[in-house]
Amino acid sequence: MEIISSYNLKELRGKFESLGLEAYRANQVLNWVYKRFKTDFRLMTDLSKSHRDMLAKNFKVHTLRLLGRSEASDSVKYLFQTEDGHIVETVLIFERDHLTLCLSSQVGCAVGCRFCATAKDGLVRNLHTYEIVDQYLQVQKELSQKIRNVVFMGMGEPLANYENVRKAIEIMVSSWGIDLSKRRVSLSTSGLIAQLRRMAEDELLREINLAVSINAPSQYLREFLMPLSKTNSLHELLNVLVEFPYPEDRRIMLEYVLIEGVNDSPIHAKELSNLIKPYRRKFKVNLIPYNPDPSLPFQRPPMERVYAFQEVLRKANISTFIRLSKGVEVFGACGQLRSKRLQHMLK
Ligand code: SAH
Ligand code: SF4
Repeated sequence: MEIISSYNLKELRGKFESLGLEAYRANQVLNWVYKRFKTDFRLMTDLSKSHRDMLAKNFKVHTLRLLGRSEASDSVKYLFQTEDGHIVETVLIFERDHLTLCLSSQVGCAVGCRFCATAKDGLVRNLHTYEIVDQYLQVQKELSQKIRNVVFMGMGEPLANYENVRKAIEIMVSSWGIDLSKRRVSLSTSGLIAQLRRMAEDELLREINLAVSINAPSQYLREFLMPLSKTNSLHELLNVLVEFPYPEDRRIMLEYVLIEGVNDSPIHAKELSNLIKPYRRKFKVNLIPYNPDPSLPFQRPPMERVYAFQEVLRKANISTFIRLSKGVEVFGACGQLRSKRLQHMLK
């Protein structure tokens, strides 16, 4: 079986031609899948019966199996299973006037941040393009309102799965695909420098929103929290970001998870402020109060400390926001996905 969302339009047209179908049939099929979210070939009424049968025999769209959902007031967490038995989590977040979908890009993660639950089992495998797109399609199918915002902030390091994430984004932002605005797709990375350089050269990826998990104001502390900094230094990271070819009115989001007693003091805030002040027009800062995990020794600071941290940055005229991660009610949020524990809840 071939999977429709492994291909972009050009590739699918070629594929169809090689099977004796007219190339434009690919446009028709993608229209059903990505515009109407109908994925059963038998219902694609602008194709002949024999074409429909032929497609149904050779192609499919979905590969993820929905195992369950847990709902909270502000979010729904979906638990999917891949064909080879891995768990993938996706979170739908209800914002004031729109929906945001938080996607996973890998099963597990190799980066090994000390505070992150996804890091615990290391990397299991990259998700395929079609598995990334299927997270969107399966959730969208249940809804009447279109999901217009997508964030790569679920399980995994998206830039460590560059090709598959890139093609999934191509499908999401192309007019023949899901047709989301590039400005509504965000990618969060732990700061892989080589891949950020590649992204800066990449006409597609450099137009989406870039978020970078900075999490510490000094090389020393960042190395402790994010061991990848030993080879991807904070200094080099800042250089790449300052050089990133964004238009003047766009800003890179720096994400800073606030962990009590570790990186949340006013001195840390001052250090961060000194670090980014020279480039403050390039950046905005998102402070994320930590979501504790019972198996990790870190805590969320009291809100006064979060506000005090924000105040230091604001005094330096650095745009700084506090993001209370959504979905806290369903065991932590986007960016803190823990499949193991949810798995047994569903049995
Ligand atoms: N791997 C990418 C994207 C997924 S993590 C990255 O690290 O950026 C998305 C965000 O969630 C990151 O900013 C990460 O620092 C944050 N995060 C991880 N664990 C968290 C936790 N327990 N509480 C709050 N934020 C967390
Ligand atoms: Fe991976 Fe991001 Fe978790 Fe770090 S914070 S381990 S990069 S998912």
